[in-house]
Amino acid sequence: MSNPLLDFSGLPRFAEINNEHITPAIETLLKENRAVIDKVRADDSTPSWQTFVQPMTDANERLSRAWGQVSHLNAVMNTPELRETYNANLPLITQFYAELSQDVRLFEKFKQLRASAEFDQLTPARKRIIDNELRDFRLGGAELPAEKKQRFLRIQEELSKLTSTFSDNLLDATNAYSLLIEDAEKVAGIPDDVLQPAQQSATADGKTGWKFTLHMPSYLPVLQYADNRELREQMYRAYATRASEFDSQGDSSKDNMPLINKILELRREAAHMLGYDNYAEVSLATKMATSPQQVLDFLKKLAAKAKPYAVADLQALQQFAAEKLNLTKLEAWDLAYVSEKLRQERYAFSDQEVKQYFPEDKVLAGMFKVVEKLYGIRITLAAPARNIQRWHPDVKFFDIHDANGELIGQFYLDLYARPTKRGGAWMDDAITRRRIDHQHTRKSTIQLPVAYLTCNFSAPVTMDDQPRPALFTHNEVIVLFHEFGHGLHHLMTKVEDLGVSGINGVEWDAVELPSQFMENFCWEWDVLTGMTQHIETGESLPKALFDKMIKAKNFQSGLQMLRQIEFALFDMHVHFDFRPDSDRTVLQLLDDIRNQVAVIIPPGFNRFPNSFAHIFAGGYAAGYYSYKWAEVLSADAYSMFEETASDGVVNAATGSHFLEEILAVGGSRSALESFIAFRGREPELDALLRHSGMETA
Ligand SMILES: [Zn+2]
Repeated sequence: MSNPLLDFSGLPRFAEINNEHITPAIETLLKENRAVIDKVRADDSTPSWQTFVQPMTDANERLSRAWGQVSHLNAVMNTPELRETYNANLPLITQFYAELSQDVRLFEKFKQLRASAEFDQLTPARKRIIDNELRDFRLGGAELPAEKKQRFLRIQEELSKLTSTFSDNLLDATNAYSLLIEDAEKVAGIPDDVLQPAQQSATADGKTGWKFTLHMPSYLPVLQYADNRELREQMYRAYATRASEFDSQGDSSKDNMPLINKILELRREAAHMLGYDNYAEVSLATKMATSPQQVLDFLKKLAAKAKPYAVADLQALQQFAAEKLNLTKLEAWDLAYVSEKLRQERYAFSDQEVKQYFPEDKVLAGMFKVVEKLYGIRITLAAPARNIQRWHPDVKFFDIHDANGELIGQFYLDLYARPTKRGGAWMDDAITRRRIDHQHTRKSTIQLPVAYLTCNFSAPVTMDDQPRPALFTHNEVIVLFHEFGHGLHHLMTKVEDLGVSGINGVEWDAVELPSQFMENFCWEWDVLTGMTQHIETGESLPKALFDKMIKAKNFQSGLQMLRQIEFALFDMHVHFDFRPDSDRTVLQLLDDIRNQVAVIIPPGFNRFPNSFAHIFAGGYAAGYYSYKWAEVLSADAYSMFEETASDGVVNAATGSHFLEEILAVGGSRSALESFIAFRGREPELDALLRHSGMETA
C-alpha cells in the first residue's frame, strides 16, 4: 500500500505519512464514498442494515479515520505546509458531510428501514443508530417542504455569519484595548511574572512602563493583585463593556447587542419551522435533559442549596475586606483582589510546592493502578522492539489487557507542550471498536479501539547534568485523570456498532460523566499517598498539605456555583420563554434572574451578554447548564464508590458495575437509562453539594 493514509489494516503509519499523501487520499476516499452513496441511493429494494447502513458506515469510517489522522497531526505536529494542506481539504470534507445531512433520498431510506419488519429484529444499538440518524435529518430540516427548506438553509447561513461576527467583535474589542502605566507605584502588588511581559510589550511599542491588556493572562492578575483600586476599576470597566455601546473604543458598529437580538430571533424562527415552540427544545432534542422546564427546575433547586453558602462566602469576604484591607464597600473590581488576599491568608501553599510531589512516573503508575483495580485490567507500555510508529519521540504507547490477558484496546499518550502542538488537553479516537464481518470467510472479528490522549504539560528538564522526570501540578494531574476518563469511555466499550460505540452517540450533556468521574480520585488521600513522591526527599504528600489543598478546592464554592447557575439560567430562559420581539430586553431578563438567584449584582454598565460567546458564538446555546448537569452525574456516580468503600474507594465490585452499566454501553442506550442501571435511581444533587463543601443534612 503506497499511501499510508489509505491503509486501514492496523495502527496509523505516522512515521510514513507526509504532506503529499493527504490530498490524494482524501480525493480517493471522497470519490469512493460518493460512489457507495450513489449505489445505495439507486438500490430500489427495501433498505436493510446490511445493504444500506453498513456500506455507508464502512465508507464513512475510512474517511473519518484517514481525516482523523490528518487532523491529529495538524493539532500535534503543526507545520505551515500541513496547515495549508489541512485547510485546503477541510471544506471538501465539510461539504461532503453537509450533502449527506441534506440528502432526502437517504432520509427516506432510513424512514423505510425504521418502518420495515427488519427493524424490530435489530439489536438495541442498531435501533438507536437509526433513530439518531432520523432525528439528525429532521433537525437539519430534511422534512421541510422545498420552499421552507430554502428559508431554513438561509437562516442557518445567516446564523453562522452572525455568530462569527459576534466572536470577531469580541476579539477585536479585546485586542483594541490596552492600558499603559508609567508610574511604578501604580503597579504595586502585581507579581513579577506578570509585570515582566507587560514591560516587554510596552518596550515593543517604544514606550516605558507596563502595558496591560484585556487578555486573561494580563487582565486577571491585575484584578487579583493590583493594590491600586483605580487601576482595577479602569481595567474592569473596559473588560465588562467589551463589544457593547459602552465599549472603550466607542465603535458602535462593533456592538454585539443587535447581533444577539437577531440571533435569538432567527433561532426561534428555525425552531418554529421544525415544529418546536422555542430554540431550547431544539437544543435539548440531542441531550439527556428532556425539557427546558426540567433544566430550569434543576438549576433553581441547585441555586437554593448553594445560596446560603454564597451568602456566607460574601459575608466572609466583606468582613475580611473591612478588617484587613480597610475596604468598607466592595465594588465589582474588588472581588478578585480581596478573594485572592483571603485565600492566601487561609490556605497559603503554592503550586510549585505541591508539584515537587508529582513526578510523571509515579503519577502514571498511580493512575493506572486505580483503573486496573477498578476494572480488572492491565496497562503496559509497549516495548521499543515493537517499533510502534508515532509522530514524535516523546509519545508513549500503551496496551490494555483484560483479566484473561486478552488485548482490548490501545492508546497513545503525548504529554508535553511543544511549539507545534495546539494548546489544552483532549482525547480523540484513532480507531473505534466495532465488529467487522468478513464476506468471504463468513467470519467476523472485533476491531480494537485506539485513542489519542494529548496534554500540554511541562517536559522533563535536565538539572545539574541530571535528567529529572517531568513534574506535574495537582491541576495537571486532574486534567490527566479527566482525559483518561474520556479515553476509558472510548476504550472500554463493548458495543459492536460504530455509531454508538465508545463516546459515539452519547448525549452531549452526559459525555463528561466518565471524565469528571475520574477527577474525584485526585482528591482521595489513599490514592494520592500512593502516587506522590517528593523529587528530592522521596516522601509522599504530607497530610497537612493535602488538607489545605482540599480546603482551597472549596474556597468560595458557593459564590462560584451561583455564578455558573446565573449564566445557565440566563442561557436557558433567553432561548426558552424570552421573546426577542417583546418590549422586555435581554438585559432586563438578566437583571430579573440576578435579582432572584445572585448575591452579587454587577454594576449597571456591565454588559456580560455581549461577551457570552459560549452561547452566542459557540455550541452551548441552551446547553450551558451541561457543566453543572454533568458534575451532578459524575459526583453522584462517584458517591456510590464512597458508599461501598471497604478498603478504600477503589472498589473492584463497584468498578465492574460502573464498567458494565456506564463505560461499556457507550451510546447504545440513553444516558439516563445507563445512570439508573448503575445507581439504582435517578441522579441526585447531594453528592455534588457535599464534594463542594456544602453539607446538605
Ligand atoms: Zn472533558
